Amino acid sequence: MKFGGTSVAEASRFKDVFNIVKHRSTVSGKVPLIVLSAMSGITNELIDCAKCAQASDHSLAAARLTDIKDRHYEVVEDLIPLSGRDQLLSALEIDFNRLSILLQGITYLGELSKRSLDAISSCGEILSTKIFSAYAISQKAPAVYVDARTIMLTNEDYGKAIPNLEELSARSQSEIAALMKEGKWIITQGFIGATANGVTTTLGRGGSDYSASLIGAAINADEIQIWTDVDGMMTADPRLVPEAIPVANVTFQEAAELAYFGAKVLHPLTIKPAIEKNIPVRILNTLNPDSAGTLLVEKTDNTEKICAIACKKGQTAIFINSARMLMASGFLAQVFNIFARYETSIDLITTSEVSVSLTIDNLDKLPQIEEELKQLGEVTVLNDLAIIALVGRNFREESGTAHRIFKALADLNIIMISFGASNINVSLVLTNQDADRAIKLLHSEFFSMAAVRS
Ligand code: ADP
Ligand code: ASP
Ligand code: MG
Repeated sequence: MKFGGTSVAEASRFKDVFNIVKHRSTVSGKVPLIVLSAMSGITNELIDCAKCAQASDHSLAAARLTDIKDRHYEVVEDLIPLSGRDQLLSALEIDFNRLSILLQGITYLGELSKRSLDAISSCGEILSTKIFSAYAISQKAPAVYVDARTIMLTNEDYGKAIPNLEELSARSQSEIAALMKEGKWIITQGFIGATANGVTTTLGRGGSDYSASLIGAAINADEIQIWTDVDGMMTADPRLVPEAIPVANVTFQEAAELAYFGAKVLHPLTIKPAIEKNIPVRILNTLNPDSAGTLLVEKTDNTEKICAIACKKGQTAIFINSARMLMASGFLAQVFNIFARYETSIDLITTSEVSVSLTIDNLDKLPQIEEELKQLGEVTVLNDLAIIALVGRNFREESGTAHRIFKALADLNIIMISFGASNINVSLVLTNQDADRAIKLLHSEFFSMAAVRS
Protein backbone atom coordinates (compact mmCIF):
# COMPACT_ATOMS: atom_id res chain seq x y z
CA MET A 1 0.00 0.00 0.00
CA LYS A 2 1.72 3.18 -1.18
CA PHE A 3 0.45 6.50 0.08
CA GLY A 4 1.51 9.64 -1.79
CA GLY A 5 2.37 13.05 -0.38
CA THR A 6 -1.21 14.31 -0.43
CA SER A 7 -2.22 11.30 1.68
CA VAL A 8 0.17 12.42 4.43
CA ALA A 9 -0.18 16.18 4.06
CA GLU A 10 -1.23 16.85 7.68
CA ALA A 11 -2.00 15.08 10.98
CA SER A 12 -5.61 14.21 10.11
CA ARG A 13 -4.47 12.61 6.85
CA PHE A 14 -1.95 10.40 8.69
CA LYS A 15 -4.92 9.21 10.77
CA ASP A 16 -6.93 8.52 7.59
CA VAL A 17 -4.05 6.46 6.22
CA PHE A 18 -3.79 4.48 9.45
CA ASN A 19 -7.56 3.79 9.43
CA ILE A 20 -7.47 2.66 5.81
CA VAL A 21 -4.57 0.26 6.45
CA LYS A 22 -6.20 -1.11 9.59
CA HIS A 23 -9.61 -1.54 7.99
CA ARG A 24 -8.26 -3.18 4.82
CA SER A 25 -5.99 -5.56 6.65
CA THR A 26 -8.74 -6.54 9.09
CA VAL A 27 -11.26 -7.18 6.31
CA SER A 28 -8.86 -9.05 4.02
CA GLY A 29 -6.85 -10.82 6.71
CA LYS A 30 -3.72 -9.80 4.81
CA VAL A 31 -0.56 -8.27 6.20
CA PRO A 32 0.17 -4.80 4.81
CA LEU A 33 3.50 -3.36 3.70
CA ILE A 34 3.23 0.42 3.70
CA VAL A 35 5.35 2.65 1.47
CA LEU A 36 5.11 6.37 2.20
CA SER A 37 6.11 9.51 0.30
CA ALA A 38 7.25 12.69 1.94
CA MET A 39 4.50 14.99 3.22
CA SER A 40 2.99 16.96 0.37
CA GLY A 41 5.37 19.64 -0.97
CA ILE A 42 8.27 18.69 1.35
CA THR A 43 10.55 17.22 -1.34
CA ASN A 44 10.23 20.45 -3.34
CA GLU A 45 10.95 22.49 -0.20
CA LEU A 46 14.04 20.43 0.62
CA ILE A 47 15.32 20.90 -2.92
CA ASP A 48 14.68 24.67 -2.65
CA CYS A 49 16.62 24.69 0.64
CA ALA A 50 19.56 22.96 -1.03
CA LYS A 51 19.48 25.48 -3.88
CA CYS A 52 19.54 28.40 -1.42
CA ALA A 53 22.59 26.83 0.22
CA GLN A 54 24.22 26.37 -3.17
CA ALA A 55 23.67 30.09 -3.78
CA SER A 56 25.47 30.59 -0.42
CA ASP A 57 22.32 32.12 1.07
CA HIS A 58 22.66 30.41 4.42
CA SER A 59 20.06 32.45 6.27
CA LEU A 60 17.38 31.68 3.69
CA ALA A 61 18.31 27.98 3.65
CA ALA A 62 18.15 27.91 7.47
CA ALA A 63 14.81 29.77 7.53
CA ARG A 64 13.35 27.32 5.02
CA LEU A 65 14.62 24.37 7.01
CA THR A 66 12.92 25.82 10.10
CA ASP A 67 9.63 25.98 8.16
CA ILE A 68 10.01 22.32 7.20
CA LYS A 69 10.80 21.41 10.79
CA ASP A 70 7.81 23.38 12.13
CA ARG A 71 5.47 21.61 9.72
CA HIS A 72 6.63 18.19 10.88
CA TYR A 73 6.60 19.11 14.56
CA GLU A 74 3.04 20.42 14.25
CA VAL A 75 1.98 17.03 12.90
CA VAL A 76 3.80 15.27 15.74
CA GLU A 77 2.04 17.45 18.30
CA ASP A 78 -1.39 16.76 16.82
CA LEU A 79 -0.79 13.09 16.22
CA ILE A 80 1.42 11.48 18.82
CA PRO A 81 0.30 11.05 22.43
CA LEU A 82 2.63 12.68 24.97
CA SER A 83 3.94 9.35 26.21
CA GLY A 84 5.52 8.43 22.85
CA ARG A 85 6.47 11.92 21.75
CA ASP A 86 9.92 12.45 23.27
CA GLN A 87 11.47 9.39 21.66
CA LEU A 88 10.15 10.42 18.23
CA LEU A 89 11.19 14.05 18.67
CA SER A 90 14.74 13.09 19.56
CA ALA A 91 14.93 10.86 16.45
CA LEU A 92 13.65 13.72 14.27
CA GLU A 93 16.03 16.18 15.95
CA ILE A 94 18.97 14.03 14.82
CA ASP A 95 17.67 14.11 11.22
CA PHE A 96 17.19 17.90 11.30
CA ASN A 97 20.65 18.46 12.79
CA ARG A 98 22.13 16.32 10.03
CA LEU A 99 20.22 18.30 7.42
CA SER A 100 21.41 21.55 8.92
CA ILE A 101 25.05 20.41 8.83
CA LEU A 102 24.68 19.24 5.22
CA LEU A 103 23.22 22.62 4.23
CA GLN A 104 26.07 24.45 5.98
CA GLY A 105 28.58 22.34 4.06
CA ILE A 106 26.89 23.16 0.77
CA THR A 107 26.79 26.86 1.69
CA TYR A 108 30.53 26.93 2.39
CA LEU A 109 31.35 25.11 -0.83
CA GLY A 110 28.73 26.94 -2.93
CA GLU A 111 28.39 23.65 -4.76
CA LEU A 112 25.58 21.12 -4.92
CA SER A 113 26.40 17.74 -6.43
CA LYS A 114 23.68 15.27 -7.40
CA ARG A 115 24.90 13.10 -4.55
CA SER A 116 24.48 15.93 -2.00
CA LEU A 117 21.06 16.77 -3.42
CA ASP A 118 19.96 13.15 -2.89
CA ALA A 119 21.21 13.29 0.70
CA ILE A 120 18.84 16.22 1.23
CA SER A 121 15.83 15.43 -0.96
CA SER A 122 15.58 11.91 0.53
CA CYS A 123 14.83 13.27 4.01
CA GLY A 124 11.11 13.95 3.48
CA GLU A 125 10.36 10.23 3.24
CA ILE A 126 12.49 9.44 6.30
CA LEU A 127 10.61 12.01 8.38
CA SER A 128 7.11 11.00 7.25
CA THR A 129 7.75 7.27 7.85
CA LYS A 130 9.21 7.87 11.31
CA ILE A 131 6.13 9.88 12.27
CA PHE A 132 3.72 7.34 10.81
CA SER A 133 5.48 4.42 12.51
CA ALA A 134 5.33 6.17 15.88
CA TYR A 135 1.64 6.86 15.36
CA ALA A 136 0.88 3.27 14.30
CA ILE A 137 2.72 1.97 17.37
CA SER A 138 0.85 4.43 19.61
CA GLN A 139 -2.36 2.93 18.18
CA LYS A 140 -1.12 -0.57 19.13
CA ALA A 141 -0.60 -1.70 15.55
CA PRO A 142 2.14 -4.32 15.05
CA ALA A 143 4.24 -1.82 13.08
CA VAL A 144 7.94 -2.16 12.25
CA TYR A 145 9.96 0.68 10.72
CA VAL A 146 12.30 -0.51 7.96
CA ASP A 147 14.80 1.89 6.44
CA ALA A 148 14.38 1.39 2.67
CA ARG A 149 18.14 1.91 2.26
CA THR A 150 18.72 -1.50 3.80
CA ILE A 151 16.78 -3.23 0.99
CA MET A 152 16.74 -0.87 -2.03
CA LEU A 153 20.31 -1.24 -3.27
CA THR A 154 20.92 0.97 -6.31
CA ASN A 155 23.71 2.04 -8.62
CA GLU A 156 25.42 5.43 -8.14
CA ASP A 157 23.32 7.32 -10.66
CA TYR A 158 22.26 9.96 -8.13
CA GLY A 159 18.88 11.56 -8.84
CA LYS A 160 17.73 8.66 -11.01
CA ALA A 161 19.36 5.64 -9.45
CA ILE A 162 18.66 2.21 -10.88
CA PRO A 163 17.67 -0.45 -8.33
CA ASN A 164 19.33 -3.84 -8.19
CA LEU A 165 16.34 -6.17 -8.38
CA GLU A 166 18.11 -9.37 -7.40
CA GLU A 167 19.53 -7.73 -4.29
CA LEU A 168 16.16 -6.16 -3.45
CA SER A 169 14.48 -9.52 -3.71
CA ALA A 170 17.14 -11.25 -1.56
CA ARG A 171 17.17 -8.50 1.06
CA SER A 172 13.36 -8.34 1.18
CA GLN A 173 13.29 -12.06 1.88
CA SER A 174 15.91 -11.73 4.62
CA GLU A 175 14.79 -8.40 6.18
CA ILE A 176 11.03 -8.39 5.69
CA ALA A 177 9.49 -11.76 4.88
CA ALA A 178 9.86 -13.29 8.34
CA LEU A 179 8.43 -10.16 10.01
CA MET A 180 5.43 -10.20 7.67
CA LYS A 181 4.85 -13.89 8.42
CA GLU A 182 4.56 -12.87 12.07
CA GLY A 183 1.85 -10.40 11.00
CA LYS A 184 4.00 -7.27 11.37
CA TRP A 185 3.11 -4.21 9.33
CA ILE A 186 6.24 -3.03 7.53
CA ILE A 187 6.51 0.76 7.17
CA THR A 188 9.15 1.99 4.75
CA GLN A 189 10.07 4.86 2.44
CA GLY A 190 9.35 5.26 -1.24
CA PHE A 191 11.73 7.18 -3.51
CA ILE A 192 14.99 6.40 -1.69
CA GLY A 193 17.70 3.77 -1.82
CA ALA A 194 21.42 3.41 -1.16
CA THR A 195 24.52 2.36 -3.02
CA ALA A 196 26.56 -0.68 -2.01
CA ASN A 197 28.65 1.71 0.12
CA GLY A 198 25.56 2.93 1.93
CA VAL A 199 25.36 6.35 0.25
CA THR A 200 21.77 7.58 -0.09
CA THR A 201 20.27 7.75 -3.58
CA THR A 202 16.86 8.63 -5.02
CA LEU A 203 14.95 6.95 -7.85
CA GLY A 204 13.71 10.13 -9.56
CA ARG A 205 10.86 12.52 -8.88
CA GLY A 206 7.55 10.82 -8.20
CA GLY A 207 9.51 7.60 -7.64
CA SER A 208 7.60 6.33 -4.59
CA ASP A 209 5.11 4.58 -6.89
CA TYR A 210 8.04 2.78 -8.48
CA SER A 211 9.48 1.81 -5.06
CA ALA A 212 6.11 0.37 -4.06
CA SER A 213 5.84 -1.70 -7.17
CA LEU A 214 9.44 -2.92 -6.91
CA ILE A 215 9.00 -3.91 -3.27
CA GLY A 216 5.57 -5.41 -4.04
CA ALA A 217 7.16 -7.58 -6.70
CA ALA A 218 10.09 -8.50 -4.44
CA ILE A 219 7.77 -9.79 -1.70
CA ASN A 220 5.31 -11.35 -4.20
CA ALA A 221 2.47 -9.15 -2.95
CA ASP A 222 -1.10 -10.14 -3.80
CA GLU A 223 -1.82 -6.59 -4.96
CA ILE A 224 0.00 -3.27 -5.29
CA GLN A 225 -2.16 -0.33 -4.20
CA ILE A 226 -1.28 3.25 -5.13
CA TRP A 227 -3.28 5.49 -2.78
CA THR A 228 -3.53 9.10 -3.94
CA ASP A 229 -5.91 12.09 -3.91
CA VAL A 230 -8.14 11.23 -6.89
CA ASP A 231 -10.52 8.36 -7.70
CA GLY A 232 -8.03 6.49 -9.89
CA MET A 233 -6.73 6.98 -13.40
CA MET A 234 -9.08 9.60 -14.83
CA THR A 235 -9.96 10.48 -18.42
CA ALA A 236 -7.73 13.59 -18.03
CA ASP A 237 -5.97 15.44 -15.22
CA PRO A 238 -8.94 16.47 -13.03
CA ARG A 239 -7.09 19.64 -11.99
CA LEU A 240 -7.37 20.81 -15.58
CA VAL A 241 -10.58 19.09 -16.64
CA PRO A 242 -13.03 19.01 -13.73
CA GLU A 243 -15.45 16.85 -15.78
CA ALA A 244 -12.84 14.07 -16.00
CA ILE A 245 -14.14 10.71 -14.81
CA PRO A 246 -12.30 7.69 -13.38
CA VAL A 247 -11.62 4.76 -15.67
CA ALA A 248 -12.46 1.43 -14.01
CA ASN A 249 -10.01 -0.75 -15.93
CA VAL A 250 -6.88 0.26 -17.75
CA THR A 251 -4.46 -2.15 -19.38
CA PHE A 252 -0.84 -2.16 -18.22
CA GLN A 253 0.12 -0.91 -21.67
CA GLU A 254 -2.37 1.98 -21.60
CA ALA A 255 -1.31 2.94 -18.09
CA ALA A 256 2.35 2.91 -19.13
CA GLU A 257 1.63 5.23 -22.09
CA LEU A 258 -0.50 7.58 -19.97
CA ALA A 259 2.09 7.73 -17.20
CA TYR A 260 4.92 8.32 -19.65
CA PHE A 261 3.02 11.10 -21.38
CA GLY A 262 2.28 13.00 -18.21
CA ALA A 263 -0.48 11.36 -16.13
CA LYS A 264 1.31 12.19 -12.88
CA VAL A 265 -0.90 9.88 -10.85
CA LEU A 266 1.48 7.01 -11.72
CA HIS A 267 5.25 7.00 -12.16
CA PRO A 268 5.95 5.56 -15.64
CA LEU A 269 8.13 2.71 -14.33
CA THR A 270 5.54 1.49 -11.81
CA ILE A 271 3.98 -0.96 -14.22
CA LYS A 272 7.11 -2.91 -15.16
CA PRO A 273 7.73 -4.90 -11.95
CA ALA A 274 4.00 -5.59 -11.65
CA ILE A 275 3.77 -7.00 -15.19
CA GLU A 276 6.82 -9.19 -14.64
CA LYS A 277 5.22 -10.80 -11.59
CA ASN A 278 1.64 -10.44 -12.91
CA ILE A 279 0.57 -8.56 -9.78
CA PRO A 280 -2.59 -6.44 -10.10
CA VAL A 281 -2.10 -2.72 -9.47
CA ARG A 282 -4.97 -0.65 -8.11
CA ILE A 283 -5.09 3.16 -7.91
CA LEU A 284 -7.23 4.30 -4.99
CA ASN A 285 -8.29 7.53 -3.29
CA THR A 286 -7.40 8.15 0.37
CA LEU A 287 -10.04 10.90 0.43
CA ASN A 288 -12.69 8.50 -0.85
CA PRO A 289 -11.53 5.02 0.20
CA ASP A 290 -14.76 3.26 -0.75
CA SER A 291 -14.55 4.20 -4.42
CA ALA A 292 -13.49 1.29 -6.65
CA GLY A 293 -10.57 3.22 -8.17
CA THR A 294 -8.78 1.93 -11.24
CA LEU A 295 -7.54 -1.61 -11.68
CA LEU A 296 -4.60 -2.08 -14.01
CA VAL A 297 -4.99 -5.38 -15.81
CA GLU A 298 -3.50 -7.25 -18.72
CA LYS A 299 -6.67 -7.04 -20.86
CA THR A 300 -9.92 -5.06 -20.60
CA ASP A 301 -13.28 -5.27 -22.31
CA ASN A 302 -13.49 -1.45 -22.47
CA THR A 303 -15.29 -0.43 -25.62
CA GLU A 304 -14.67 3.33 -25.50
CA LYS A 305 -12.39 4.44 -28.30
CA ILE A 306 -10.31 6.69 -26.04
CA CYS A 307 -9.29 5.61 -22.56
CA ALA A 308 -7.71 8.90 -21.38
CA ILE A 309 -5.77 11.98 -22.46
CA ALA A 310 -2.39 12.90 -20.99
CA CYS A 311 -0.07 15.82 -21.51
CA LYS A 312 3.65 16.46 -21.07
CA LYS A 313 4.71 20.10 -21.25
CA GLY A 314 8.17 21.62 -21.63
CA GLN A 315 9.08 19.62 -24.73
CA THR A 316 11.49 20.62 -27.48
CA ALA A 317 11.12 19.78 -31.17
CA ILE A 318 14.09 19.52 -33.52
CA PHE A 319 13.53 19.76 -37.27
CA ILE A 320 16.28 18.52 -39.58
CA ASN A 321 15.93 19.32 -43.24
CA SER A 322 18.39 17.88 -45.71
CA ALA A 323 18.44 17.33 -49.44
CA ARG A 324 20.97 14.58 -48.69
CA MET A 325 18.14 12.53 -47.30
CA LEU A 326 16.46 12.34 -50.73
CA MET A 327 16.61 8.71 -51.90
CA ALA A 328 19.56 8.11 -49.55
CA SER A 329 19.82 5.21 -47.15
CA GLY A 330 21.30 5.34 -43.67
CA PHE A 331 20.42 8.99 -43.03
CA LEU A 332 18.06 8.27 -40.14
CA ALA A 333 20.64 5.92 -38.63
CA GLN A 334 23.11 8.81 -38.53
CA VAL A 335 20.55 11.07 -36.85
CA PHE A 336 19.63 8.47 -34.22
CA ASN A 337 23.27 7.67 -33.62
CA ILE A 338 23.91 11.26 -32.51
CA PHE A 339 21.07 11.13 -29.97
CA ALA A 340 22.22 7.70 -28.77
CA ARG A 341 25.78 8.92 -28.21
CA TYR A 342 24.50 11.80 -26.09
CA GLU A 343 22.14 9.45 -24.19
CA THR A 344 19.15 11.62 -25.08
CA SER A 345 15.96 9.73 -25.70
CA ILE A 346 13.59 10.76 -28.47
CA ASP A 347 9.85 10.73 -27.78
CA LEU A 348 8.07 11.41 -31.07
CA ILE A 349 9.35 11.29 -34.59
CA THR A 350 7.83 12.08 -37.96
CA THR A 351 9.58 12.07 -41.31
CA SER A 352 9.07 13.22 -44.88
CA GLU A 353 11.36 12.54 -47.81
CA VAL A 354 13.77 15.36 -46.97
CA SER A 355 13.10 16.11 -43.33
CA VAL A 356 12.89 14.57 -39.88
CA SER A 357 11.11 16.11 -36.91
CA LEU A 358 11.52 14.76 -33.43
CA THR A 359 10.93 15.74 -29.82
CA ILE A 360 13.06 15.43 -26.69
CA ASP A 361 12.62 16.65 -23.15
CA ASN A 362 16.14 16.33 -21.81
CA LEU A 363 18.02 19.42 -23.00
CA ASP A 364 21.30 18.72 -21.17
CA LYS A 365 23.17 17.78 -24.35
CA LEU A 366 21.15 19.85 -26.84
CA PRO A 367 23.99 22.23 -27.84
CA GLN A 368 26.31 19.33 -28.71
CA ILE A 369 23.52 17.43 -30.48
CA GLU A 370 22.55 20.52 -32.48
CA GLU A 371 26.15 21.07 -33.51
CA GLU A 372 26.48 17.53 -34.86
CA LEU A 373 23.07 17.56 -36.56
CA LYS A 374 24.12 20.68 -38.45
CA GLN A 375 26.66 18.51 -40.30
CA LEU A 376 23.68 16.58 -41.70
CA GLY A 377 21.37 19.41 -42.72
CA GLU A 378 19.56 22.57 -41.71
CA VAL A 379 18.44 22.41 -38.08
CA THR A 380 15.61 24.32 -36.39
CA VAL A 381 14.80 24.02 -32.69
CA LEU A 382 11.43 24.95 -31.16
CA ASN A 383 11.03 25.11 -27.36
CA ASP A 384 8.07 25.37 -25.00
CA LEU A 385 6.00 22.69 -26.65
CA ALA A 386 3.60 20.12 -25.25
CA ILE A 387 2.89 16.54 -26.26
CA ILE A 388 -0.74 15.54 -25.90
CA ALA A 389 -1.29 11.80 -25.98
CA LEU A 390 -4.68 10.24 -26.61
CA VAL A 391 -4.52 6.68 -25.37
CA GLY A 392 -7.19 4.23 -26.43
CA ARG A 393 -7.79 1.28 -28.69
CA ASN A 394 -7.63 0.08 -32.27
CA PHE A 395 -6.53 3.39 -33.75
CA ARG A 396 -5.10 1.66 -36.79
CA GLU A 397 -8.09 -0.54 -37.50
CA GLU A 398 -11.02 1.77 -36.86
CA SER A 399 -11.80 4.92 -38.83
CA GLY A 400 -12.90 8.32 -37.60
CA THR A 401 -10.46 9.13 -34.78
CA ALA A 402 -8.22 11.46 -36.79
CA HIS A 403 -11.26 13.29 -38.12
CA ARG A 404 -12.58 13.86 -34.61
CA ILE A 405 -9.19 15.06 -33.35
CA PHE A 406 -8.74 17.55 -36.19
CA LYS A 407 -12.36 18.71 -35.89
CA ALA A 408 -11.98 19.34 -32.16
CA LEU A 409 -8.72 21.26 -32.68
CA ALA A 410 -9.80 23.06 -35.86
CA ASP A 411 -8.65 26.49 -34.70
CA LEU A 412 -5.42 25.39 -33.01
CA ASN A 413 -2.04 24.93 -34.60
CA ILE A 414 -0.82 21.31 -34.50
CA ILE A 415 2.97 21.28 -34.93
CA MET A 416 3.48 17.51 -35.20
CA ILE A 417 1.27 14.44 -35.13
CA SER A 418 2.27 10.84 -34.62
CA PHE A 419 -0.47 8.43 -35.69
CA GLY A 420 0.03 4.76 -36.40
CA ALA A 421 3.26 4.19 -34.51
CA SER A 422 1.16 2.54 -31.85
CA ASN A 423 -2.31 1.09 -32.05
CA ILE A 424 -3.16 2.62 -28.69
CA ASN A 425 -1.59 6.09 -28.79
CA VAL A 426 -2.05 9.15 -30.97
CA SER A 427 0.30 11.96 -30.01
CA LEU A 428 0.10 15.61 -30.99
CA VAL A 429 2.56 18.43 -30.46
CA LEU A 430 1.24 21.94 -29.80
CA THR A 431 2.65 24.95 -27.99
CA ASN A 432 2.59 24.86 -24.18
CA GLN A 433 0.24 27.81 -24.43
CA ASP A 434 -2.35 25.96 -26.53
CA ALA A 435 -2.09 22.68 -24.64
CA ASP A 436 -4.66 23.20 -21.88
CA ARG A 437 -7.31 24.40 -24.31
CA ALA A 438 -6.56 21.50 -26.65
CA ILE A 439 -7.01 18.97 -23.83
CA LYS A 440 -10.34 20.49 -22.84
CA LEU A 441 -11.55 20.45 -26.45
CA LEU A 442 -10.41 16.86 -26.97
CA HIS A 443 -11.96 15.80 -23.67
CA SER A 444 -15.30 17.26 -24.57
CA GLU A 445 -15.10 15.70 -28.05
CA PHE A 446 -14.41 12.21 -26.71
CA PHE A 447 -15.93 12.18 -23.25
CA SER A 448 -18.94 14.49 -23.10
CA MET A 449 -22.04 12.34 -22.60
CA ALA A 450 -23.20 12.99 -26.16
CA ALA A 451 -19.80 11.97 -27.52
CA VAL A 452 -19.62 8.82 -25.41
CA ARG A 453 -23.06 7.74 -26.65
CA SER A 454 -22.36 8.48 -30.32
P1 ADP B 1 0.76 11.44 -4.91
O1 ADP B 1 1.23 12.48 -3.95
O2 ADP B 1 -0.34 10.60 -4.37
O3 ADP B 1 1.87 10.64 -5.53
P2 ADP B 1 0.60 12.95 -7.39
O4 ADP B 1 0.40 14.40 -7.25
O5 ADP B 1 1.95 12.44 -7.74
O6 ADP B 1 0.05 12.26 -6.06
O7 ADP B 1 -0.44 12.36 -8.46
C1 ADP B 1 -1.84 12.59 -8.31
C2 ADP B 1 -2.24 13.73 -9.20
O8 ADP B 1 -2.04 13.33 -10.57
C3 ADP B 1 -3.72 14.05 -9.17
O9 ADP B 1 -4.01 14.93 -8.11
C4 ADP B 1 -3.98 14.65 -10.53
O10 ADP B 1 -4.02 16.06 -10.50
C5 ADP B 1 -2.77 14.23 -11.36
N1 ADP B 1 -3.17 13.60 -12.61
C6 ADP B 1 -2.67 13.91 -13.84
N2 ADP B 1 -3.24 13.19 -14.79
C7 ADP B 1 -4.13 12.35 -14.17
C8 ADP B 1 -5.03 11.34 -14.63
N3 ADP B 1 -5.16 11.02 -15.92
N4 ADP B 1 -5.77 10.70 -13.72
C9 ADP B 1 -5.66 11.00 -12.41
N5 ADP B 1 -4.84 11.96 -11.91
C10 ADP B 1 -4.07 12.62 -12.78
N1 ASP C 1 8.60 12.68 -2.57
C1 ASP C 1 9.13 12.35 -3.87
C2 ASP C 1 8.80 13.44 -4.87
O1 ASP C 1 8.14 14.41 -4.52
C3 ASP C 1 8.68 11.00 -4.36
C4 ASP C 1 7.19 10.83 -4.55
O2 ASP C 1 6.40 11.62 -4.03
O3 ASP C 1 6.79 9.87 -5.22
O4 ASP C 1 9.22 13.36 -6.00
MG1 MG D 1 3.19 10.83 -7.17
